[in-house]
Amino acid sequence: MTAEKAVQTTARRKRVQRLKRLIVFSLITAILTPTVLSVVLFVRLHGLEKQVAHLERMVADMQKQQSENADATPDIGIGEGLVFRLEINMPDESEEPEETKPAEASQDEGIQDGAEQQEEAVRKVYLTFDDGPSSNTNKILDILAQYDVKATFFVVGKEGEWAEDAYNRIVEEGHTLGMHSYTHVYQSIYASVEAYAEDLNRLRDYLYEITGVESRFVRFPGGSSNTVSDLDMHTFITYLNEQGITYFDWNVSSGDAGSRKLEPEEIVANCINGMGNKDTVVILMHDAAGRPTTVEALPALIEQIQAMDNTEILPITEDTLPVQHIKSQQETED
Ligand code: ZN
Repeated sequence: MTAEKAVQTTARRKRVQRLKRLIVFSLITAILTPTVLSVVLFVRLHGLEKQVAHLERMVADMQKQQSENADATPDIGIGEGLVFRLEINMPDESEEPEETKPAEASQDEGIQDGAEQQEEAVRKVYLTFDDGPSSNTNKILDILAQYDVKATFFVVGKEGEWAEDAYNRIVEEGHTLGMHSYTHVYQSIYASVEAYAEDLNRLRDYLYEITGVESRFVRFPGGSSNTVSDLDMHTFITYLNEQGITYFDWNVSSGDAGSRKLEPEEIVANCINGMGNKDTVVILMHDAAGRPTTVEALPALIEQIQAMDNTEILPITEDTLPVQHIKSQQETED
């Protein structure tokens, strides 16, 4: 072996060793980096989960407080999907039948003359769906049929055969067809009485043409207590009174129109908790396309209401005691 060759061999060995070190280092890096990242991400996820849980508790508390005050948070929908929520303190003259406490609230009397008290007024629950029809309307109608329950739909103006089928199905299956507004665009419908009347008449005529039913019931977009109308809502209420149309708000909000999509269980809990001891319960829900969890919540909600004593689920009719957030002018001016 020449001296030159020996030098070459040594140099090659060094190169191989360097390469080996590089490979080992790369391997360690390749294993360590994801591990460290995983740990870091796991810790951060845990922190975020805690924050979400905390926020959920806060939201639940707020909703509970709201329903305890018998308030509601109307949807301030812009188009179909985007919906804000506004907190509103209902005026004191709210027509909710809170004064009349159901007899079962007084448990003490029950022992002595319990059997005599069976003849209580039946508590009435009205399921109402706003903003439809949509692809969810048929699913909701299927569920209602399955449980033999009639509800009320405050619809908007949708065009196409599918929509006409939905309006007709609502009527044919014994539900109440109510009007929400044709366009649901706050700025235009609440611009003036004329604009409101034009929108509502358009919807009424459209529905009559399709179903043969002239709707007598209205739910204002955002509710009568909305804060989006620049005009005093009494202006529109007076117009409805002149037309012989009754408007309905709600005294229980399912909360399904909030910016956060609620789980079905949360929707059910909001409704059941919101019912409290009310004799007349009008529950606000939405059959808009972007509200799939409302559909998922419906079976459990109906089952829980049907399991309650002395409680009936009914569609809104002329005999229904209206739940209204604000009264008409004549009633408040005395
Ligand atoms: Zn609406």
